[in-house]
Amino acid sequence: MTKFEAGAGEGRQPQLTVITPVFNESRNIEALLKRLVPVLERCVASFQILFVDDGSTDDTLDRLRAAHCADSRILALSLSRNFGKEVAIAAGLDHARGAAAVIMDADLQHPPELIETFVARWREGYKNVYAQRVDHAVYNPLRRLLTQRFYKLFGSVGDTRLPEGAGDFRLLDARAVAALRTMREHARFSKGLYAWIGFKSVSVPFDVEARAHGESKFSYSKLTHLALDGLMSFSTLPLKVWSYIGLTTSLLALTLAGFYLIRTLMFGVDVPGYASLIVSITFFAGIQLLSLGIIGAYIGRIFAEVKRRPLYLIEERVGLDSLAADESPARQRSA
Ligand code: UDP
Ligand code: MG
Repeated sequence: MTKFEAGAGEGRQPQLTVITPVFNESRNIEALLKRLVPVLERCVASFQILFVDDGSTDDTLDRLRAAHCADSRILALSLSRNFGKEVAIAAGLDHARGAAAVIMDADLQHPPELIETFVARWREGYKNVYAQRVDHAVYNPLRRLLTQRFYKLFGSVGDTRLPEGAGDFRLLDARAVAALRTMREHARFSKGLYAWIGFKSVSVPFDVEARAHGESKFSYSKLTHLALDGLMSFSTLPLKVWSYIGLTTSLLALTLAGFYLIRTLMFGVDVPGYASLIVSITFFAGIQLLSLGIIGAYIGRIFAEVKRRPLYLIEERVGLDSLAADESPARQRSA
C-alpha cells in the first residue's frame, strides 16, 4: 500500500480518510458520526473524517467546528459557495491523507457499517472498492426509471463502462486517489472518473437506506445536468453521429440531383415544386441547426475547460493547517 504524497513529512498519517460532502446537512452530522466513528475505530488503526462543506447556508459549519473541538480526528473544509457535490468530492480527495480514502454521503443513505467490508476487500489488494446498489426503493419510481435509462444509454454510447448501481460510496486506495487528483476537469462526472482510472476493482452490494433528515439536494434539473455532463464528458458519439448523417444526406441529395437532371433532360421542366422545396429547405435547415447546436455544446465545454479556473476556493479550514495548500497538485505542478 502506498501512502499519499501529500502530507508526508507532516507528522503521523492517519491510515484512512473518510470524505463526506455536506450541503445543509446540519441535522445529519451528529447521527452520522455516532454510527461512523465506532465502525472506523473497529476496522482501522487511525483515521480522519473530512467534511467538505459545500457552501451550506444553515449551521452545518458550526456543527463541524463543534465536532472538531470534541474530536480532533474530525476535520472540515468549507468551500466559498455551493460548487456542487462533484467538486466538493474533488476538494476532499485533494486534502485526503493516509493509505486509503472512503467517500460517503452525510445523510446515512450509505450505511457506515459497509466500510468494514470495504477495508477487508482493500486489504485483499483491491484499490477501488465500490458499493453497488441492489435496492434503491427509497427513491421514487420516476427517479429510479430515469437512473436506469441513463445507465442503459451510457452503456451504449459511452466510451467508459459504468458498473450499474455504483455511485460515490466507495473506498479508494492512495494510488487511485492520486490518479483522480490529476484530473482537473470542471464538468466533473465522478462515477465516470472512478471507472476511467481503472485499478483492481470490486463491488460490495448494499441496499440504499432512507435519508435520515432533510430532503435530497438533487432536483430533476440538477440530475439532468449531471447526466449531460456524464454523457458529454465520456462520449463523442453525439459529435460523430452528425457527420455520418450529414454524409448520408449529401449522398442522397447528389443522387436526387442526378435523377432530376436526367428527368429534366428527357421530359423538360414541369410545374415548379413549391411545396417540396419548402419542405426540403426546412428539413435541412433543421438538421443543420441541430448539428450546430451539438457542436456548440461541445465548444461550450471546451470554453469552460480552457479557462483553467481553480476548481474551487476554500474559505476556511477547520483542523487543517495551510501546509496542505502547499501540497495541492496545482501548486506541486507549478513549483
Ligand atoms: N451535496 C453536496 N453539494 C450539493 C448537493 C449535495 O455536497 O450541491 C451532498 C449532500 O449534502 C449529501 C450528498 O452530497 O451528503 C448526497 O446528496 P443527496 O443526499 O441530496 O443526494 P441523493 O441521495 O438524493 O442522490
Ligand atoms: Mg442522499
